[in-house]
Amino acid sequence: MPRKTVARIDTRALRHNYRLACRLASPARAMAVIKADGYGHGIREVARALASDAPKFAVACLEEALAIREAGVDHPVVLLQGMHSAEDVATCVREGFEVVVHSRYQLDWLAQAGETPTVWVKVNTGMNRLGFAPSALADVMARLGTIAAAEKVAGFVTHFACADDISSDDTDQQTRIFSEAVVDWPKLEKSASNSAAHFLPAQPSFDWTRPGIMLYGASPTLGKTGPELGLEAVMTLEAPLTAVRTLKPGESVGYGYSWTATRETRMGIVAIGYGDGYPRHAGTGTPAWVGGNRIRLIGRVSMDMLAVDLTGAPNACPGDSVELWGRHVSVDEVAQHAGTIGYELLTGITARVPRLYENSGNAAAG
Ligand SMILES: *Cc1c(COP(=O)(O)O)cnc(C)c1O
Repeated sequence: MPRKTVARIDTRALRHNYRLACRLASPARAMAVIKADGYGHGIREVARALASDAPKFAVACLEEALAIREAGVDHPVVLLQGMHSAEDVATCVREGFEVVVHSRYQLDWLAQAGETPTVWVKVNTGMNRLGFAPSALADVMARLGTIAAAEKVAGFVTHFACADDISSDDTDQQTRIFSEAVVDWPKLEKSASNSAAHFLPAQPSFDWTRPGIMLYGASPTLGKTGPELGLEAVMTLEAPLTAVRTLKPGESVGYGYSWTATRETRMGIVAIGYGDGYPRHAGTGTPAWVGGNRIRLIGRVSMDMLAVDLTGAPNACPGDSVELWGRHVSVDEVAQHAGTIGYELLTGITARVPRLYENSGNAAAG
């Protein structure tokens, strides 16, 4: 029998979150960002689950776009980093992938090719990772005009650096820079918003938004959890209790004896660890959930197991399933305890953990 350590993936919750993104983006449309194996949820299954709702997908690289095709989904797919080699151009044309062009060497590759895919031009509005400076756009667009047919030029994209911080005015400034940079091409489409920007009240959505993390129910916004934003957890990470014992005051648990009981403590060992992608930096006090009760981690996370204090769950016994994050404990809370973000935790679940796909709305025809 396989270990009962699993990541349950709820496709109904995924669709709920995508529809919320659409409502917030309206009248713009939302391209579903499913890079990094669908943020750890399985890119093929995520693409299939969203195919009837989402008109377009976005990924980081060509391999991910090809995985969507392998899943039997033939929607347009935007490559957010564009081509990584000259040979990619022909593949993109053949498969109907749309490329983001952020550097002149990519224009050279397009110029050498017989046919070009649909192109988006990346504008650097301050983040300084990728993109052309606003002052370079006239020149870039003139060059593109000699390379690609007009109908192959979709429009412009930019990316926000600080949209997770609702008190920052950097997003307003980037939005202003973007709008001014592209003002000479009013007929072309524009795309700027990541998940976080969907939750900024005065943020314009332009033509396309690009929600990623919110689709999976984790929060893009500092100081808020996904559920507080109306999102539903898509992944529930579960592992069984494999041992239960009672420690006497003065007895410790795990590597480094880093947690010591100060009173008699009923504790459990759970079959999950950093080898499964559970964060090693989640220390004593990180929440988990078993049988209707919130519990907390104690001591150090090891590769294959971790320890929990079962004081709050007196009926828990070996074989019971512990939720590490999901419907009852948001991944955002665990991330906060581990000094990271939900993105890293979701994308970090390793191949040792089987993904089980479920649709919690089955009975309700959702
Ligand atoms: C990853 C990514 C997104 C999605 O970001 P989230 O914060 O996950 O919503 C959008 N646009 C670009 C360019 C990205 O790389």
